[in-house]
Amino acid sequence: MVTLSAILTPLGRQLQRQLRRELRDHRWIPGRRCSLTVCSSKYVLSAMHPMWQGPLAVPGGDRQSPIDIAVRKTQWDRQLKPLEMRYDPRTCQQIWNNGYSFMVEYDDTTDRSTVKGGPLEDQYRLCQFHFHWGESNAWGSEHSVDRRLFPAELHLVHWNSDKYSLFEEAVMEENGLGVVGVFLKLGKRHEGLQKLVDALPAVRHKDSVVEFGRFDPTCLLPENTEDYWTYYGSLTTPPLTETVTWMVMKQPIEVSHDQLAVFRSLLFTSAEEEVQRSMVNNFRVQQPVGGRSVRSSFDPFQHGEPSAL
Ligand SMILES: [Zn+2]
Repeated sequence: MVTLSAILTPLGRQLQRQLRRELRDHRWIPGRRCSLTVCSSKYVLSAMHPMWQGPLAVPGGDRQSPIDIAVRKTQWDRQLKPLEMRYDPRTCQQIWNNGYSFMVEYDDTTDRSTVKGGPLEDQYRLCQFHFHWGESNAWGSEHSVDRRLFPAELHLVHWNSDKYSLFEEAVMEENGLGVVGVFLKLGKRHEGLQKLVDALPAVRHKDSVVEFGRFDPTCLLPENTEDYWTYYGSLTTPPLTETVTWMVMKQPIEVSHDQLAVFRSLLFTSAEEEVQRSMVNNFRVQQPVGGRSVRSSFDPFQHGEPSAL
């Protein structure tokens, strides 16, 4: 027999998730008008995605992401500890096409999937991961290394659960978010990624959601997680808040052309829209580094030029 609570509880959870999504997507931060660089970037991107159209205010403007990592200007910080990522695959919940990327969302009500160590003073909970990619293999990543772009970039988004009680709170606050970035380069098929790729046709259109369980994002990390760059930056989608500690892995992971082709078969548009638009080039243009320092956990001259990877 189906009880009323059996129906209402999942419905309540669904509404809660919906509300959180609304908050994540539509919260708008009052701030000063964007800088010339950001405005000109917005102009370029306005032809690519509606998210970048209309007035775009950024809260500070001098700590924006993504950036180019100029290896010779990075500072080797011997104090940087290894990152400790511990993910419980059972916290994986669903995949959602939000009209800009696809988000693999995790239950972040407990500390079961977390990152700590590295440049982080606190423990951060995983709430979702997503990718950015290009229409061709020549570009697609948000960050670059010595101006070299990769075909795609993975972002594992975590929020500081030691200091804050909700993602929505952390996103606005100092040291609120910790994002691990991993470059994807063209190569052999990535077996770990394939389970996710197989599920993607179900979320082809904007606003579609499919249940997706037991996915351990550890399989998407490179073999070497000891070598990374870190800097203070922002979200690369609105609200663009400057609350992110970025940790960008030096070693990329390999994926096949066919796997990237499935990413590119997704759509920015919903099933009802007349003109369908391929989900490609869903990256933000790069922002000035300004006076910020980019630290590395490794000696770039001992380990060889990262651009030779
Ligand atoms: Zn991202």
